[in-house]
Amino acid sequence: MIQPVLAIHGGAGAITRAQITPEKQQAYEDALRSVLRGGTRVLAEGGSALDAVTEAVRLLEECPLFNAGHGSVFTRDETHELDAAIMDGRTRACGAVANVTTIRNPVLAARAVMERSPHVLFVAAGAEAFARAQGLECVDPSFFSTPARREQLRAAQRTGQESIVLDHDAARLAADRKAPLDESRKMGTVGAVALDRDGNLASATSTGGLTNKWPGRVGDTPIVGAGCYASNASCAVATTGKGESFIRAVAAYDIAALMEYAGLSLEEASHKVVFEKLPLLDGAGGLVAVDAQGHVAMPFNTEGMYRGSQVVGQAPEVAIYR
Ligand code: ASP
Repeated sequence: MIQPVLAIHGGAGAITRAQITPEKQQAYEDALRSVLRGGTRVLAEGGSALDAVTEAVRLLEECPLFNAGHGSVFTRDETHELDAAIMDGRTRACGAVANVTTIRNPVLAARAVMERSPHVLFVAAGAEAFARAQGLECVDPSFFSTPARREQLRAAQRTGQESIVLDHDAARLAADRKAPLDESRKMGTVGAVALDRDGNLASATSTGGLTNKWPGRVGDTPIVGAGCYASNASCAVATTGKGESFIRAVAAYDIAALMEYAGLSLEEASHKVVFEKLPLLDGAGGLVAVDAQGHVAMPFNTEGMYRGSQVVGQAPEVAIYR
């Protein structure tokens, strides 16, 4: 019998213990647990993996602690440009939006692209117009801003205009203004993967991108095969990390391909990509993945990754550090 399961992440990076207070750690863990409960409720009620990842990512977008939706990081121009994607492992249908600035829940827009358009990826003004026409909620861009993210931008810019910083590394910089920017320790994105009781897999991702990124820049999160992938023949994957490297590695699809063509297990394939292949491309980050048997892998090559998983009927398990 299939045991439905959901795994989520809230970004990877230089999450140093020294800079996270017990209260803050508790807040992150509580948020992860509550998202897991929200997503697995969908699975427990017989909902699809697609519905579960949509709900989990929507909840992560609503939580200001994570770099997606409300609480997204700032671009170099102090604006927000959000990206999201979703993929159905049963049909390999997918949808994505990039560079959107007013859509409250980009993951819902990605899903609408998948289900209500003949296309896969919409960007910028066209994506906004499509979302509005679909009746999705749009907000003033200031809705996404938080004081903490603004301070992260200032900290990144103090180290030089060209410092493009992964979310959680930016938090570290903001806490210690004198800290030199370590280019290899930068990140934030959110993602979810699920297996439902019918044996179907799905994946969804959403992000504000990198702190101080150039306007117009798009990372791996809305690129199917790089940041997001799902196929019932292999696995569902949602990544977080330096998007440029994950695009060059075609990271999410590479895991599926290693399983399908080389016969690797989910654990072997995801470890190979995260610990062997991505580091060769300066690919700091991690991912959550689930296969058709319900095995879950959550490898990361950074100091930490906000992550968790929950099998329907069991308690949620969350972790931040190794
Ligand atoms: N992958 C995201 C991007 O490059 C950022 C992240 O996961 O931290 O936009």
